[in-house]
Amino acid sequence: ATIGQLLNDTAARFPERPAVVFREQGIRWTWREFAYEVDVLAAGLASLGIGRGDRVGIWSPNRVEWLLTQFATSRIGAILVNVNPAYRLAELEYALNKSGCCTLITAESFKSSKYVEMLQALAPELAHCEPGRLRAAKLPALRTIVRMCDTATPGMMTFSDLIEAGRVALPAIDLDAIGATLSARDPINIQFTSGTTGNPKGATLTHRNVVNNARYIAMAMRFTEADALCIPVPLYHCFGMVLSVLASVSTGAKMVFPGEAFEPAATLAAVAEERCTALHGVPTMFIAELDHADFASFDLSSLRTGIMAGSPCPIETMKRVISRMHQSEITIAYGMTETSPVSFQSSTTDPIDKRTSTVGRIQPHLEAKVVDAMGNTVPIGQTGELWTRGYSVMMGYWDDEPRTREAIVDGWMRTGDLATIDADGYCNIVGRLKDMLIRGGENIYPREVEEFLFRHPKVQSVQVFGVPDEKYGEEVCAWIVVRAGESLTEDEVREYCCGQIAHYKVPRYIRFVDEMPMTVTGKVQKFVMRERMIDELD
Ligand code: ATP
Ligand code: MG
Repeated sequence: ATIGQLLNDTAARFPERPAVVFREQGIRWTWREFAYEVDVLAAGLASLGIGRGDRVGIWSPNRVEWLLTQFATSRIGAILVNVNPAYRLAELEYALNKSGCCTLITAESFKSSKYVEMLQALAPELAHCEPGRLRAAKLPALRTIVRMCDTATPGMMTFSDLIEAGRVALPAIDLDAIGATLSARDPINIQFTSGTTGNPKGATLTHRNVVNNARYIAMAMRFTEADALCIPVPLYHCFGMVLSVLASVSTGAKMVFPGEAFEPAATLAAVAEERCTALHGVPTMFIAELDHADFASFDLSSLRTGIMAGSPCPIETMKRVISRMHQSEITIAYGMTETSPVSFQSSTTDPIDKRTSTVGRIQPHLEAKVVDAMGNTVPIGQTGELWTRGYSVMMGYWDDEPRTREAIVDGWMRTGDLATIDADGYCNIVGRLKDMLIRGGENIYPREVEEFLFRHPKVQSVQVFGVPDEKYGEEVCAWIVVRAGESLTEDEVREYCCGQIAHYKVPRYIRFVDEMPMTVTGKVQKFVMRERMIDELD
C-alpha cells in the first residue's frame, strides 16, 4: 500500500474516532477530519504544480503542519525531504540543494533559530520575487517557500494561503485517481540520519519500505484503535515519522503531541491528561521523565506499552520504566534510518529479562547476520558487525552512488553496529563499530562500561569513549552528569570500579559535566566529546 492508502483505509474504518491531538496548537481532529485536511493540503500542493517525484522540504519542529505535509505529499507522490529542525544555514542549503527541493515549508522559528530571517539572509532575492517564482543564486532549484504564519512576506507564501488555494482547488482534483497512478515502490521520502557520528546522510525510502515496517512495529506492541500514543520524539526523524505516526495510522491509534520540542513535564502531563496507553522515547527522554522533580504528581496508570529506541537502552532504565511508569509491555526497537528503520524489536510477549536486556528478535520477513571483519558469519553468541536484509533496506543515499555502494552489499545493509545474537534469536547491540576502542590490544565496548557506571547511585548519566593515547593506542574516557544535589569525585568513581571491572576498562580520564552534546533526536554525539577531550589533552 502507499502511505496515502494507509490513511484513507483508517479514516474509512474509524471516521469519528480521535486521530490527532496537538496540545500546544489546540488541535483535536478525528480520522475523518484529519484525512480531509490532508486532502486540502494535497490539492493546494497540486495547484502549485507539484506532483510525482518532486521534492518538498519541511523544516519544522513538531507541529500539525508537519503531519499534514507528510501525508499530503505522499497523496500526490511528491518526495518529502525532512530537514532537521536544528540545522543552520549551511546545513539547510546543503540539504535543499542536495535533494533539489522545489518547495520548502518552513516554521517561523525553533528555539533560538529564526528560520524566516535565516532564509531571507540565504536568499536576499526573496525581497523582489513573487511567491512561487523564486530565483535565488544559492538555492537554484527552489521556487516556493511557504511559511507557517498568517503574515505575508515578500517572496513567501503563507501556509494559510496554501490551504485556501487547496480548498478552492479540491473539488476539481481527483486525488484518488492520482493515487491510483502511484506505486508503492516509488521513493516517497528522503530522510536524513541523526548525525550522531558526523554528517547526516539522506536515505531514500519508498512507501513499501515504511508502510510495511510500521505495520510490524504496531503488531509487536499489539496496537489497536483503542490505543493513544504520546509522541515526544521529533517528527523529522524516523522514530517520529514511522514508529510513532505510521504505526498509529496503520491501526487507528490516537496520536498525542505534547509540544514542539521535548519537555519532560509536558510529556508526562500529556500522558496523564489524555490517558495515553503508550509512550515512545529515546533513553535520555525516559531518564529525564523518571528523574523529573514532579514525576510522582502525574497519574501514568493508563500506560501499557511504548518503544524505547535510538541508542543503547540501559537495563536499569528499562526496569524503572516498567516498575514506575506502568509500561509493563514496553518494547525496545533497534534500527537505523537506512532500514526504514526497525529491524529488531522485542514484543509484548517476550520474557521480561529478554525485553530489558536485548532488542528482541528480527522482524518478520527480514534477515540478519553477524559478521567478522572479512564479512564471514561468526558463531552464535559472538560479537561482530550486524548486517540486515529484506524489504526494509533503503533504495540508497540520495544522489550518492559511492556511499550507497559502501553501505549496501548484495542487498545487505551494513549497519556499522556491533551485535551478538543468541541461539533463540535475541539480539544484543554491543555498540557502534566506530565507538569501539582498542586499548593496548584489548577491545573495549563503551556500552559495557557505561552500564556499570550507570548503576552508581549518584550517576545521572554517563558516556564512555576513547581518546588517542601514545602508549596504549587509545585510552578510556568517561563523562558523567551527577544527580542533582549530589557530589562525586574521580577517586570515588575509580574506587567503585576497583575489583568490579577489568583494570584496563577503568576510565583513565573522568570529567564531570552539566550535560552531554546531543542531536535533536536526543542522541549523544561522542565525536563532539572526543574532539573536546583531544583539545583539552593537547
Ligand atoms: P548518523 O548515521 O548520521 O551518524 P545515527 O546513526 O544516529 O546518525 P539514526 O539512523 O537515527 O542515525 O540511528 C541509527 C543508529 O542508532 C543505529 O545504527 C544504532 O547505532 C543506534 N540505535 C538505534 N536503536 C538502538 C537500540 N535499541 N540500541 C542501541 N543502539 C541503537
Ligand atoms: Mg547511522
